[in-house]
Amino acid sequence: MPFSCEAGTHCCSVTSGKECMMGTFGLLCPGEVVLCPRLFSMSSRRCLQAQFTRERNWNQFHQPRNLLLALVGEVGEVSELFQWQGEVAEGLPGWSAPQREALSHELSDVLIYLLELAEKCRVDLPQAVLAKMELNAKKYPASRVQGSAKKYTEYTCEKGASSAEPDA
Ligand SMILES: [Mg+2]
Repeated sequence: MPFSCEAGTHCCSVTSGKECMMGTFGLLCPGEVVLCPRLFSMSSRRCLQAQFTRERNWNQFHQPRNLLLALVGEVGEVSELFQWQGEVAEGLPGWSAPQREALSHELSDVLIYLLELAEKCRVDLPQAVLAKMELNAKKYPASRVQGSAKKYTEYTCEKGASSAEPDA
């Protein structure tokens, strides 16, 4: 099933079922993307969302504040799934298939609104994530913070520690 994006976006057509030259599914060329759960990028996800929204004439509702509130609501729906569960181990042992499916749905909703909010705020999220990771690495040098959960501000008080930018 082909998808198309608005002119000006870097992803103009999405087609499923095509195999690229590397023998896997992914980006074929700057204007052609195939659907692949493993290699599906943030940009191609955003491309599909933009079409979904446009086809329903929902852009009129998607101002930044509305999207932020929707995002917070979806985070609440994720929280509801963990509510009263006690401590939950990695991998969610003991969770049923319906519970896992519900979690995948709600986490997807969070990502969908996050990507749309970033776009409406003109934040290049893939680039911003890389920049923030770089900043975090400076705030929390591996040699200094091994096995510690202290906030970076606590390290700045230690001898020889450099000052760090305030966290967002
Ligand atoms: Mg939801």
